[in-house]
Amino acid sequence: MGSRPISWQVRHLLWGIFETAIIFLYPAKCRVCETLLEVTSLRYICANCWQDIQFFEPPWCDICGKPDIDGVCDECAVSPPPYGKLRSIALYQTTLQQAIHLFKFEKKKVFAQHLIQLINARIPADCAIADYDFILPVPIHKVRLWERGFNQSMLLAKGIAQVAGVPVLTDALVRHRHTVAQSSLGMEARQHNIVGAFKIRKPDVIHNKRILIIDDVFTTGATVREVVNELRKGNPAKLDVLTLSRTVYH
Ligand SMILES: [Zn+2]
Ligand SMILES: [Zn+2]
Repeated sequence: MGSRPISWQVRHLLWGIFETAIIFLYPAKCRVCETLLEVTSLRYICANCWQDIQFFEPPWCDICGKPDIDGVCDECAVSPPPYGKLRSIALYQTTLQQAIHLFKFEKKKVFAQHLIQLINARIPADCAIADYDFILPVPIHKVRLWERGFNQSMLLAKGIAQVAGVPVLTDALVRHRHTVAQSSLGMEARQHNIVGAFKIRKPDVIHNKRILIIDDVFTTGATVREVVNELRKGNPAKLDVLTLSRTVYH
């Protein structure tokens, strides 16, 4: 006669007690400022550092969203990007960089919820989610999906879509070429690395539809440009982009 297996509720409870004991015995430090974290604070990042996240406020470029621009920036005026408009929630600075790292590379999925809240509380008025037919997260290659276990942009997209009641398109676009991580490359190498990485699978689904592309970080724009150029083959009515964070070059 075998003993009954421990139910997941009990295991969950035991793990919770164990984790609390560990935190009590070895108090964790904030990943950003290294002060000791209180048990009640946000895990891994202290409340002070979390307050440091810098949200973008208008004015910004009507097209690419670059901050402190009235109207359209010089770059967009000279060579307009392939998307309608791009908006980002916050600057890619130390705290947000740590939060995204914890979420994406250390797989602390609790950060998905924190980051979704951050986005949903700050969606720009000119990028209202309800104005789109579909939300489309930037896909990752199946090898990366297998390594990481999830697509960070997909989790963010689902969290945003749920609140607005807009469907998420999961299979209209695929990343059919496995590439080196963009974050490991310089500006020019990124563009070269990403060319031809995406493939539209269901052009009919996006035909004449208003699509909002979601990604976690916007750096050089190489990934977004590639995604947009591929999606344009399906003739959507509108292609805009919303990213959680972006770097700003001066
Ligand atoms: Zn801190
Ligand atoms: Zn611009």
